[in-house]
Amino acid sequence: MTQPDGTGFEARARALADLGVTGVQIGWADNNGVLRSRTVPVEGLAAAAVRGVGVTTLFAVFDTRDGIVFDAPGLRTPSGDVRLVPAGLPEDVVAPATRPGLAWTPGRLVAADGTPWHYDQRGVLERQVAAAGEAGLTVRAGYEIEFALYRDDDADPPVPAFTGPVYGPNVLAGLGGFVPRLLADLRDHGVPVGQFHAEYGPAQLELSIGPSDPLTAADRQLLARQTVHTAAAAHGYRASFAPLPSTGSAGNGWHLHTSVARDGVNLLSGGDGPAGLRADGAAWLAGLLRDLPAVAGVTAPSVPSLHRRRPGYFAGAYAFWGVENREAALRMVPATELLGPAHANVELKASDASANPYLALAAVIGAGLGGLADRPPLPDPVQEDPGTWTAARREAAGIAPLPSTPEEQAAALHGNPRITAVLGEEVAAAFRAVRASDAAFADGRPVDEVLAAFRFRY
Ligand code: GLU
Ligand code: MG
Repeated sequence: MTQPDGTGFEARARALADLGVTGVQIGWADNNGVLRSRTVPVEGLAAAAVRGVGVTTLFAVFDTRDGIVFDAPGLRTPSGDVRLVPAGLPEDVVAPATRPGLAWTPGRLVAADGTPWHYDQRGVLERQVAAAGEAGLTVRAGYEIEFALYRDDDADPPVPAFTGPVYGPNVLAGLGGFVPRLLADLRDHGVPVGQFHAEYGPAQLELSIGPSDPLTAADRQLLARQTVHTAAAAHGYRASFAPLPSTGSAGNGWHLHTSVARDGVNLLSGGDGPAGLRADGAAWLAGLLRDLPAVAGVTAPSVPSLHRRRPGYFAGAYAFWGVENREAALRMVPATELLGPAHANVELKASDASANPYLALAAVIGAGLGGLADRPPLPDPVQEDPGTWTAARREAAGIAPLPSTPEEQAAALHGNPRITAVLGEEVAAAFRAVRASDAAFADGRPVDEVLAAFRFRY
């Protein structure tokens, strides 16, 4: 068993109990980006840290609507059990700011004997972080989280919590204590917030989370969701993180910002390439671009992801990169004199809450590392919206739409040996099975019915 002994967790459990905590939720994201959890009594935290909590192996093949798809290696029968353990250190068990009684920790799934389990998504990201480390590279990542806020009543369809003007301060003031409470809770939970605003769509809000190492970024993405849901519920609202809550909504992008450094030097700035890219930074970006159709199959993988992917909506419909181009699937955010070299990063727009954040970050890092290894050429940045061009002009510029159907998406991902190798055989198979199950549900149904079924799953 590779888990820590329970000592630190015993002390942490006592401290949590003193704060009135009675239970600790150990949570993880499944292959649909849906959060799953087990709650242990606070007195049982130390034991759970050492021995874990038993859960079925079949979580690897749950689809978005909780159906179980018995179709991946070793997952074709009801038999099998793995252990869910807190993924981090005792201090990573977060005391609830204003959620009485329940603490939170990200979890990981290990085999029954405590050894790594092939289907554990966190392990997939750990492998890529280690591979980057072996190449002398440090990756930093941060999520921007867009969501729609609805009144929490029985209305169907749900009623948006506010109407425009978009970006307006007054719409936030109209939400009672929701916004100040959310900011306070995120602060108390150790989630650094860059900024918060009313976004472009109906009752849409956005929260940007500060950069960190990739594992922390994924852990924080999970915790931020819990924090938003809790604050929303306390104020009579319901948050939808779905990629597209309804056809009349704006898409909720969970844009993923990453940068890569060697010896503390950001490879995305200080060079003489386009937008200040160093040669290695250009190779990293070229790797992301080369594998983008497959990466997007992991980072924006669901049926609603495909409906969100509309040209002209800043959602990354076409596979190209641009400098500060918000229509680009890969938006290069360059360093500036004001913000310094560390600020330079690449924003992946084709990213949303239906992605498992550990797998998403792993796919991005794997693509970037592939770029550094193979050094594919980086085309010139595109500063316009290719969606306004003729198809012939796009074709001449080598710009193709990202996959727009589940079939195209599966072909792009499973036809890409680099990205499927990042996932590993088992996760790739389970991922394919749950995607196919969701696609079968959506097939032939009216789009709004499909979007409604996914609206509050995340
Ligand atoms: N809501 C857009 C999306 O679907 C993004 C808008 C923006 O650029 O922030 O990703
Ligand atoms: Mg936004």
